[in-house]
Amino acid sequence: MSKVLLIGAGGVGRVVVHKLVQNKDTFSHITLASRRLESCQVYQDEMITRYGVHIDIAQVDADSVDELVELIKKVEPDVVLNIALPYQDLTIMEACLITKTHYLDTANYEHPDTAKFEYKEQWAYHDRYKDAGIMALLGSGFDPGVTNVFCAYLQKHYFDEIHTIDILDCNGGDHGYPFATNFNPEINLREVSSNGRYWEDGEWIETKPMEIKMVWDYPQIGKKDSYLLYHEEMESLVKHIKGLKRIRFFMTFGESYLTHMKCLENVGMLGIEEVEHNGCKIVPIQFLKTLLPDPKTLGERTKGKTNIGVVAKGLKDGKEVSYYLYNVCDHQEAFKETNSQAVSYTTGVPAMIGAKMMCEGKWMSDGVWNMEQFDPDPFMDELNKQGLPWHIENLSS
Ligand code: NDP
Repeated sequence: MSKVLLIGAGGVGRVVVHKLVQNKDTFSHITLASRRLESCQVYQDEMITRYGVHIDIAQVDADSVDELVELIKKVEPDVVLNIALPYQDLTIMEACLITKTHYLDTANYEHPDTAKFEYKEQWAYHDRYKDAGIMALLGSGFDPGVTNVFCAYLQKHYFDEIHTIDILDCNGGDHGYPFATNFNPEINLREVSSNGRYWEDGEWIETKPMEIKMVWDYPQIGKKDSYLLYHEEMESLVKHIKGLKRIRFFMTFGESYLTHMKCLENVGMLGIEEVEHNGCKIVPIQFLKTLLPDPKTLGERTKGKTNIGVVAKGLKDGKEVSYYLYNVCDHQEAFKETNSQAVSYTTGVPAMIGAKMMCEGKWMSDGVWNMEQFDPDPFMDELNKQGLPWHIENLSS
């Protein structure tokens, strides 16, 4: 029975609250905190209506280590779940270190002024977390998160050596808007408008945004254009998967999405630097976020499925083998259960499972860890129980 403090009452936060409450045997006490108390109040009411369960709520500015420390001392959680934005990772990690509290997040640290994401600054906490006797679990969403666990599972049960990995992320959902993003628009657009990057023979190879395209036939969805992007889980997987020679990440985008994005980029709306407008300063991409539909409101309108998985090739008992491990999630089913579309659902469920692994002691080790560094089996079992069942196909010829 564990006490948890969840920070960030956004789209993903909503799913995490639902799943924590559904797992009351593990999570005996839940506090939800966010920048705006009214965001928390909506979910507090939802938990009463849906499950008759009361959760505590609190206001916190997670950019302030002092405010976080004060809140953590008051709540005394066993683990803090950071479901706010990647900008807050370091302040929340610091507050957890000061209060000696376990930490979990779903995305690696990004500085608001540089559209660049890497684990360096979070990995730098490893020794201090170890000395403090606490654990940080990094990237417990779907990708990163489940994709890392899929790789660890394949490595453990299906391969002696994995040579290549392609992570394939398809959102086959349609929300009916000309243009909207399925999670925080600022984070999403920064990610997809950046240069692509993949790793081969020990080196990172940079590509222009959307330069490399392939068509993949996604089970239960169909053929979709898929574009090579840089994605953060590759940084840790290249360190932890034995014998790896190449790893790439592909995400599907429709033509309309790409045309809108190109146009917004061309007129400067994806800019992350402040500009002067009518005597006040605005950051274009933040203003764009204000104009776009809130991802939290997409759930009801979105129909279709997501399919995220991993194709690995390598050797087993001296023979070349290839496996495809994936999950399919239905937007409408996710909405029925949690009032959220599948992109939030597929992130929020693994965040809860990661916390469950820690609170039940199945994944518990002092220091800062990525998902593939733990035994994948108990996590894979939970995916099947908690709404994200997986499938494996043998693609070996
Ligand atoms: P949202 O923008 O919907 O939610 C973020 C919430 O964080 C907001 O509701 C906001 O609260 C809160 N917040 C922002 N700044 C602060 C602050 N300074 N202090 C306290 N609270 C703050 O984003 P999502 O829910 O879509 O995404 C949440 C996280 O999940 C992100 O880090 C994202 O990168 C990650 N993610 C990971 C994925 C994965 O597969 N690994 C996939 C998708 C997302 P308020 O409403 O109170 O202002």
